[in-house]
Amino acid sequence: MSQPPGRFAQHLAGLPAPAFDGHDDDVTAALARPGLDVLPALLSPAALPRLEELAQRAREVTLQRFGRTVRLFAPLYVSNACLSSCTYCGFSKNLDVARKTLTVEQVVVEAQTLVGRGFKHLLLVAGEHRVEVSADYLVACVEELRSFVPSISVETQTWSDDTYARLVAAGLEGAVHYQETYDRGRYAETHLAGWKRDYDRRLSSTERAAESGVRRLGIGALLGLSADWRADVLAVAEHAVWLQRAYWRTEVTVSLPRIKPSASGFQPLVPVSDAEYVQAMCALRLAAPEAGLVLSTREPAALRDGLARIAVTSMSAGSSTEPGGYLTPGEAQEQFAVSDERSPAEVAAMLEAAGYEPVWKDAFPLVPG
Ligand code: SF4
Repeated sequence: MSQPPGRFAQHLAGLPAPAFDGHDDDVTAALARPGLDVLPALLSPAALPRLEELAQRAREVTLQRFGRTVRLFAPLYVSNACLSSCTYCGFSKNLDVARKTLTVEQVVVEAQTLVGRGFKHLLLVAGEHRVEVSADYLVACVEELRSFVPSISVETQTWSDDTYARLVAAGLEGAVHYQETYDRGRYAETHLAGWKRDYDRRLSSTERAAESGVRRLGIGALLGLSADWRADVLAVAEHAVWLQRAYWRTEVTVSLPRIKPSASGFQPLVPVSDAEYVQAMCALRLAAPEAGLVLSTREPAALRDGLARIAVTSMSAGSSTEPGGYLTPGEAQEQFAVSDERSPAEVAAMLEAAGYEPVWKDAFPLVPG
């Protein structure tokens, strides 16, 4: 049964339809007083020729809010089993690919490997398979890791309030739920079957996680999935700011992955160029200045190095996107192709050379109750 719209879905439905037909004067005004209300102008084609100015303003805001620090984390894929069909994903149910779900003991060994490479923040990633990656399994993973992994997040299926609360009690700090696209029609076209097909269940999951005590909230949009990437960036920015206001004790991060080659063979409806991608990240930084911006190894090294100096506050490094891929690569299907194949040490060295401190684990700010 479909879930009714959550609080943010209702908020989003009440917003006017965006228009990205701003002119140069609108861009000038938006750069002078950036915010959510002028984000359409910053995302408009008219802002693209002024990318240098946009990047300069974004860099100033990032340095002011976050200093010269970039947090490093690693994804740990625990399973690529999935009962959902998403047209863009290499783990989609109907694809004939090598599947694997790690045992809890294997998850511990992969985590030890990553901790040995310096990581203290791990993101446990899985497809949506309620039998192979059950709530009990995930709770057991978090319980086993908590003694030697200071910061644990999950990027899995959505859960009930009770399960989020169990995970928090086990030691979970963060939960990541990408909406992929906020366009309901396009969402229905690309999420064909399974748990994830329910747009409202997906969109309200971050609210449920926050209300159950999850302290780091990750959201995102997959650029290239819908025909209008600008509308998705605007929606994800609205979502971030709404979450920050509704759950002010939490930390909110946003990611804007672009579609990459995968076993699905999916091609983006409209490609997002590198320049447009930088525009999207800069505009997001200016509209949601308190939100952390996350960049994965999907993007090539040179682009990641540039964005780390402009808007990004958190990066994965040395990533594998297949379960068991750190110790026994090549045994299971990866989710998508990685572009930046540098080691964590090489990424950390790049940040240091640029005058940034690579942060392997930052203390979660304690807020008086
Ligand atoms: S995006 Fe997630 S739910 Fe959809 S097919 Fe991939 S792993 Fe499964």
